[in-house]
Amino acid sequence: MKKNKPFLIVGQGLAGTILAHHFLSAQIPFEIWDAPAVYFNSSQAAGGIYNPVTGRKLEKTWLAEELFTYLPDFYTRLEATLQASFFHPIPLFRPFANVDMRTWLEERKPQIDHHYLNWTPEGVWVSETGWVDVAELVRVSRMHFQALGLFQERAYSATDAFEGVIFCEGFHGQKNPIWSQLPFLPAKGELMIFESDQPAKDYILSKNGFVLPLTGNQFKVGATYRWDEFSSAETVDAQDELHQKLLSMGVDSYTRLSTRVGVRPATQDRRPFIGMHPHEPVGIFNGFGSKGVSLIPYFASAFVDELQGIKELPFEVSIRRFSHLFSS
Ligand SMILES: Cc1cc2nc3c(=O)[nH]c(=O)nc-3n(C[C@H](O)[C@H](O)[C@H](O)COP(=O)(O)OP(=O)(O)OC[C@H]3O[C@@H](n4cnc5c(N)ncnc54)[C@H](O)[C@@H]3O)c2cc1C
Repeated sequence: MKKNKPFLIVGQGLAGTILAHHFLSAQIPFEIWDAPAVYFNSSQAAGGIYNPVTGRKLEKTWLAEELFTYLPDFYTRLEATLQASFFHPIPLFRPFANVDMRTWLEERKPQIDHHYLNWTPEGVWVSETGWVDVAELVRVSRMHFQALGLFQERAYSATDAFEGVIFCEGFHGQKNPIWSQLPFLPAKGELMIFESDQPAKDYILSKNGFVLPLTGNQFKVGATYRWDEFSSAETVDAQDELHQKLLSMGVDSYTRLSTRVGVRPATQDRRPFIGMHPHEPVGIFNGFGSKGVSLIPYFASAFVDELQGIKELPFEVSIRRFSHLFSS
């Protein structure tokens, strides 16, 4: 796609932010608008964990090799560009839930073993894990874009005539008339920041939830999921659930410091929505669900390749798979 006028990126959550950094590197002109006071965002609530292993069967996540090759290099370079610290590699431990689970997994070890796992009698250590302080990355990026004269705190509406808009609106995208037919499946989530001297400080504990060490005696515990309401309000149910998670991870003495609430921009087929509209000069970069930290950098690079005519996006992430929904 040849284009001389700047793109407008709508939304400076993690998706818009990382896409904008890739536009800067590729020298694609753009400006970026964000309106978190009007449209609350998911990125401020993210645990920020990246982890190449998933599920009960300890399988490699989708595209693990590609994503986890690109990820550390990208975040390390971005820290250097922004002169900031937000990328925190740290091991992750998954204890076996009980003896039956240990036996079940050990019987399957020959089939599921891969280089991300290190088995012990108590559980498995997962390598190439860690967390990104997403709120900090977004904050320092905003200052960077502001200094370059590329950022406005401003809500986009359909009356803003702009050619070449890329929507990175998170779960609010489902209300955008251009994209509302796409099969979004948003999931509200809460996590708690707490203080305690009980959890380990040198790894992420993952057991039906996670406890992640911050600084000093502060930790994050998360996260909850619900699909029936999408307000920014914290709920009693979620607080109870987080309390139960803490108990199950051996933390029974703690002080709650704050709660974070967000809505994950998840999709029904669990794949992102990326690409330009087949008939209008608008595009979308959205649908990263609960894995934005690992998916967004790799696919920002792939989207830029498609925009520059270098390589088409894979069909399974491209909105080409929904072309039947967009009548001309
Ligand atoms: C509790 C919780 C825990 C999570 N933990 C993890 C984790 O451990 N690891 C992980 O990888 N992911 C995690 N996630 C998911 C992660 O937060 C998302 O994948 C990611 O942040 C999505 O970023 P986004 O930019 O697409 O959306 P958002 O962060 O929601 O950003 C969208 C932005 O668009 C703006 N916007 C929308 N409409 C307009 C408009 N019309 N005009 C201007 N601006 C607009 C909004 O203000 C917002 O700033 C978690 C999410 C939650 C809720």
